[in-house]
Amino acid sequence: MKKIFITYPIAPAGIERLKQHGYKIEMNEEHRLLSHNDFIAQFQNADAVITVISDKVDRTILDLAATAHTPTKIFANFGVGFNNIDVAYAKQLGIFVTNTPEVLTDATADTAFLLLLAVARRFNECQKVMQPHTFTGWNTVQNLGVNLSGKTLGIVGFGRIGEAMAKRAKAFDMNVIFSTRTEKTSEFATQVDFETLLRESDAISIHTALTDETKHLFTKREFDKMKPQSILINTARGAVINEADLVSAIKAGKFFGVGLDVYEFEPLVSDDLYKLDNVILLPHIGAATIETRNKMSMLCAENIIAALDGKTPPNLVW
Ligand code: NAP
Repeated sequence: MKKIFITYPIAPAGIERLKQHGYKIEMNEEHRLLSHNDFIAQFQNADAVITVISDKVDRTILDLAATAHTPTKIFANFGVGFNNIDVAYAKQLGIFVTNTPEVLTDATADTAFLLLLAVARRFNECQKVMQPHTFTGWNTVQNLGVNLSGKTLGIVGFGRIGEAMAKRAKAFDMNVIFSTRTEKTSEFATQVDFETLLRESDAISIHTALTDETKHLFTKREFDKMKPQSILINTARGAVINEADLVSAIKAGKFFGVGLDVYEFEPLVSDDLYKLDNVILLPHIGAATIETRNKMSMLCAENIIAALDGKTPPNLVW
């Protein structure tokens, strides 16, 4: 019987699908991410592995996968980003790597827009005013936010989620510009170069994949080029921003506000970020809706079924 190892509990839809297909499921049932050593100890001889984005699938894991008594044929990553996996080496070994695109696009763009609205309207500070017995009544100057309508949103990385974010911003009457690796057109936004985007945006939302080129795409240099009192949102990957530089820039009063769902050294978050009133933090919940998690789980299952049936999985990333 073919064995599927799942490194962290995932939504049931895909697990049921795999069971119906006659596969044996072994899952780390604890709600605790596996350490690298535990991962190594537990996954071997599984025909397929479902990984979560905090699992580091490096050369050590891939070599073991390729040489095990029962080699692992596929790592199905529960997420659209796959920067946690050495994809080039997996390809070299002929091990499939898949992700879960499309099904999480709307949920993640909603999260980015939620952060944008929350930062623009100073949601954090409003919540602090509304502690029991602290609200002293309406007044004309308290918690003044900024309008989004008429402002320019710059989207960095214009893939599925970037464009879904542009669509939302357009509905809020924002002027939307984007910069990305390749030339693209969109009914929701106009392409500009990165430097123009930094200069012209009132708010910037990051949606690039994390790669060697996008790591630390945002540092002090980029913050210095942004408009004073602009807004920065990141729901992509933490390491696209140099977090230490970001903290310094926020403390220096650069931003109207910042909204983050992801962090450079996740799960560690710079202490200062918790203390800054104009910063809104979410616990990496970009795609965390019930419907989306079930669809992600199903996609992992479909990719595994295809791979173990000797077909090319639909969401192969190499
Ligand atoms: P996608 O469609 O593949 O889009 C990725 C975008 O990154 C593409 O537009 C790509 O450029 C751009 N990019 C890659 N390298 C670049 C570079 N060097 N400079 C500028 N842009 C570059 O992926 P997606 O589905 O939109 O997802 C985007 C990212 O969101 C994922 O990789 C993932 O890390 C993150 N994410 C986070 C959460 C969360 O829970 N917070 C949830 C889902 C996804 P081109 O357009 O030129 O190809």
